[in-house]
Amino acid sequence: MLPFARVAIVGLGLIGSSIARGVRAAMPTVRLTGYDADLDVRATAERIELVDDVADTPGAAVIDADLVIFCIPVGAMGAAAAELAHDLPADAIVSDVGSCKAEVARALREALPAATIVPAHPVAGTEQSGPEAGFASLFHHRWCIVTPLADSPGAAVERVAEFWRRLGAQVELMAPEHHDRVLAVTSHLPHLIAYTIVGTASDLEEVTRSEVIKYSAGGFRDFTRIAASDPTMWRDVFLTNREAVLEMLQRFSEDLSHLSRAIRWGKGDELFDLFTRTRAVRRSIVEQGQDSAAADFGRAHD
Ligand code: NAP
Repeated sequence: MLPFARVAIVGLGLIGSSIARGVRAAMPTVRLTGYDADLDVRATAERIELVDDVADTPGAAVIDADLVIFCIPVGAMGAAAAELAHDLPADAIVSDVGSCKAEVARALREALPAATIVPAHPVAGTEQSGPEAGFASLFHHRWCIVTPLADSPGAAVERVAEFWRRLGAQVELMAPEHHDRVLAVTSHLPHLIAYTIVGTASDLEEVTRSEVIKYSAGGFRDFTRIAASDPTMWRDVFLTNREAVLEMLQRFSEDLSHLSRAIRWGKGDELFDLFTRTRAVRRSIVEQGQDSAAADFGRAHD
């Protein structure tokens, strides 16, 4: 049996539209409704027939849903939930896909004191945004971390987990605070580093911008992909997961100072040992199917 029959998606960007396409592909009998605050996004969603019904208000989208998923920037979750509180069916399960969990859970609970809330985070995405950027296979073989609240009923948690399994994801349960520390180091810090490197390179005076672009294949261009990620989403992630990000940033800064010393004092063994360990991390990621083993990320070369 399908975990849900009527799914409402609030926010029809990359993740919301990927869920819609995934539901269409894997659970075609589910009735899909959608809402986005952006009029142009709603018009696009209508034109490409992303969902069965694009509503003009968040309340109209959720009025008879049994699952409501917020797919909007993490800083917008609380206000968006409050906006539809009066129209939310009492037996609906509320979820979200936000990249930070503890603060979003607090905001959703404050806006919807009586609702059944089961937050989740699909660890899958691209640097693109908007309703036309989504695709049904985005979640295939990716992890979706479900982060139940202390009061989330077990049966509701299982239904949300099953929903994500049907979209092709592998599901893991985690406490929200633990999720935020793990993602601070695997996702948030790498984005911060990418934003910094790309920013630094574009500010350099003695190296021209055209040289930075021309010779980017030396490593820089892989950072530029990450640094092209949505500014609103990432501003909200850093402000919302502030404590965990600052903690990991502190660790990173200490390790970077250590590395600077090793370079300054010519400690080649230390550099070699670290680079050997990091190579093994990459090998494990490929072995666990989280990336391609093809050279240069599988880019075509002629
Ligand atoms: P996106 O492509 O920018 O889509 C978000 C959509 O939500 C936009 O159309 C936005 O409209 C709309 N929106 C903003 N506030 C709203 C509100 N109050 N009510 C209804 N719609 C609203 O972003 P995304 O990449 O799908 O990210 C959505 C969520 O997924 C974020 O919480 C993010 O942390 C999480 N996530 C993202 C990724 C990723 O790689 N992108 C991966 C996993 C999880 P405007 O553009 O007009 O603001």
